[in-house]
Order: sequence, then C-alpha cells, then structure tokens
Amino acid sequence: MKPLTDQFGRTHTYLRVSVTDRCNFRCTYCMPKKGMTWMPRANLLSFEEIQRLVAVFAQAGVTRVRLTGGEPLIRRNIDRLVAAVAQTPGIQDVALTTNAQLLAPLAQSLKDAGLRRINVSFDSLRPERFKSMTRGGSLASVLTGIDAARQAGLAPIKINAVLLRDQNDDEIEDLVRFFSQWSDDTELRFIEYMPFQARWHQGVAAADVQKTLRARWTLLPLRESSGSGPGVGAGPARTWRIAETGLVVGFISPLTEHFCASCNRLRLMADGHLRTCLAHEDTPSLRDLLRGGANQDQLDRAVRAMVLGKPEGHRCEADGGTVFQGVMTSVGG
Ligand code: SAM
Ligand code: SF4
Repeated sequence: MKPLTDQFGRTHTYLRVSVTDRCNFRCTYCMPKKGMTWMPRANLLSFEEIQRLVAVFAQAGVTRVRLTGGEPLIRRNIDRLVAAVAQTPGIQDVALTTNAQLLAPLAQSLKDAGLRRINVSFDSLRPERFKSMTRGGSLASVLTGIDAARQAGLAPIKINAVLLRDQNDDEIEDLVRFFSQWSDDTELRFIEYMPFQARWHQGVAAADVQKTLRARWTLLPLRESSGSGPGVGAGPARTWRIAETGLVVGFISPLTEHFCASCNRLRLMADGHLRTCLAHEDTPSLRDLLRGGANQDQLDRAVRAMVLGKPEGHRCEADGGTVFQGVMTSVGG
C-alpha cells in the first residue's frame, strides 16, 4: 500500500485522535470560561467507528496513534478503545494525552490494555494557581495520577507545560527542580501558547525559556533516540538534558520555530473530520462517509485526497499572523 504522502513530500505515520471535545477542566489558554458549544453526542465517533478509521490509516502506513481530546479519560471505558487501537494490525505505539485528574484509578488498566506512554498537561506547582489556571483542577489529584502512571510503567512520562506571561512564567526553575526527581522516566516540555479563535494570553517564546534555564544550568543537546527513556518519540520537540540534574527538557515552538516542513501528523477530530494541519479545516467528514456505508477503499481514497490537500504550513506568529481555526479540544491538542 502506498504511504500517505502529501504534495510537499511529507509522509504521515502519526495520527492523533480526539475522542471527545469535552473536558473536566477549563484551562484558560484552551477554553473560554463560558460559551463553549459542545459537539452533539450523536456526532462523536463511536469506539467502533474510531477503530475502523484507525484501521484505514494503519493500512496506509500510520504506525503511531495518540488519544487526546478534550479530556480522553472522561470517555467511559476508554481502556476498551486503547485495546482496540493497540490490536489494530500495523499500529506499533499507542499513547495518550491527559490532564491526569482522573488517571490514578485507570493507569493500570490502561497499561494492561496496551497503552505505552502518557503526556500530562501541567502548568503550575502551586495549588491555588493550578486551580485557577485549570478553572477547578486539583494539583493533588494530578500528582497522584502521575504517580500511578509511573507505578504502572507508563513511561516515559512527558509533562507538558504551557507558559503564560505574568501567570506562571515564574515557575520555570521550580518545574525543572521538581521533575528532576524522576529524570530517569520523566521529561518536561515547554509548549508555546498557540492562539485559537482569539489571543487571550501572551505566551513565552521557547528561546526565552531556554535563556532562563541556561542562566542556571548547562543544557546538553540530545538527539532523538530509539530506546525507552525520555527523549523518545520527541516529534517536533527539541530536547536537551540538564547536565546538573539529568532531566530532559523539550521545547515545542510552533510559533517561533515552525516545524511544518517535517510535520508527519494527522488529526482525527472527535466528530470525524480530518485535520491535516492545525491551521486548516478539511472536509468532508469521514464519519459521514462511514455512516453512509463507505468501504475501506472509499475511506482510503477520501483520506488520501485530504492529505494531498494539506497546506504547506501555518501562518501564525508569536505576535501576529493568523490564529488557528477551531478550538483545541475538538481538533485534538
Ligand atoms: N486534556 C488533555 C490535556 O490537557 O493533556 C488533552 C487535550 S489538551 C487540548 C492537549 C495539550 O494541548 C495540552 O498539553 C495542553 O496544554 C495543550 N494546549 C491546549 N491549548 C493550548 C494552546 N492554546 N496553546 C498551546 N497548547 C495548548
Ligand atoms: Fe481540558 Fe486539556 Fe484543554 Fe485543559 S488543556 S481545558 S485539560 S482539554
């Protein structure tokens, strides 16, 4: 079977699947406080539909799947979906991105179902600030969830921090010190804030975070490795090891260092639309094709046509350009 290659020569082997646009948090950089309109439940892909579509992508060369959202752990029996995806011929790696609030009781069953790794959003070590940035999240529950994931062997654990100017940008060093306790299986990544729909915040450029880190520690550049520790599957992250603490830190800088030229990812939205690029809305809906009775070949052709239409890149800049279209939670962050 031909690989999923676009007109710019990029081959797509990585699929992110948003399993719901809903969430038990309302992070200030991700959602407005009020006025979110959720996808009607009937529009969400069922587990069976996700499974069928993953099989189409796997046949076309996708080997890695990440379940995300919204918050994937609020979808009931998510471990069943993990198992179905993990058992799809061709899929070699299933990972999940979560806020970890509900992770503690689920970590072991997710691991048993075939989940290999998790990424956790984590923006503050201060309970009150954590609560206000997530609009209701509990730092203690999230820490317990991360611990349960570690006990279950879901490693490496990637901690994703979004830094916002004058909100949590004073915690860079605290975050490094804290996660350095688990430098053998944990990586800390700083993600640049991306404006969706509107610019609610000022983000912090990766270069500024690095400057803060270099003022205190020595950063040793790392190459992506194929082993099992931090730094694995780095994707668009550029990674360094902090010489003094051993912690691997990564920087994902979609605004200040576009990585569009090497983008190998596709996003299946919770309602079955395919996003070939965060800044581009594709049609038609794969869900409608599925529900209309399309067979594997027809689905394959539809996916290939959308991949061919993938734009060269986005035009969003740190202080200008366009904002991304849609909301992160339905697109699948
Ligand atoms: N609820 C899960 C979580 O928070 O990990 C998964 C979905 S969330 C949309 C996925 C990732 O997107 C999180 O790491 C979050 O920090 C990030 N994110 C959300 N909105 C963002 C934005 N405007 N800019 C950059 N990253 C964002
Ligand atoms: Fe929910 Fe994740 Fe968005 Fe926070 S970043 S509101 S946890 S989807």
